[in-house]
Amino acid sequence: MSGPDGPRYCASLTQKGEPCRVVPRAGEAHCVWHHPGRQGEATRMRRRGGYTSKARNRGKALPPEDLPPDATTPEECEDSIRWTLRAVKTGDLDERRARVAIDGYKALHAAMLKRENYEARMRDLERIASGRAKREAPPLKVTVSK
Ligand SMILES: [Zn+2]
Repeated sequence: MSGPDGPRYCASLTQKGEPCRVVPRAGEAHCVWHHPGRQGEATRMRRRGGYTSKARNRGKALPPEDLPPDATTPEECEDSIRWTLRAVKTGDLDERRARVAIDGYKALHAAMLKRENYEARMRDLERIASGRAKREAPPLKVTVSK
């Protein structure tokens, strides 16, 4: 989510003491990982994601709080790809995970662009169709012939 002031990030700090860079859900100040009322949910998500401290110690899997927000627009997909490339260069992420992530972002990006294109075409078609409907059915004019 981004507005005119850029993305609105979580109000918490990460375990390293840095500002959390996860975008919270609409209307919430904290991301799911830091939300006091969502601890159970965060635990379930960590388990489902297979995140363990062992993976963290290997330095290969990033803890959820260090991940970028989910990409919901083509621009955010591009940002996430940039973020992933940077994480590989800094050694925060291994190549295999990065490749999977980038493939995923590319697929999302393509699907989002396709959907945007489809929606734009639908709007064009609707505009054309409504213009045609007006032309084909002009307001009734009564002419009396003598
Ligand atoms: Zn957070």
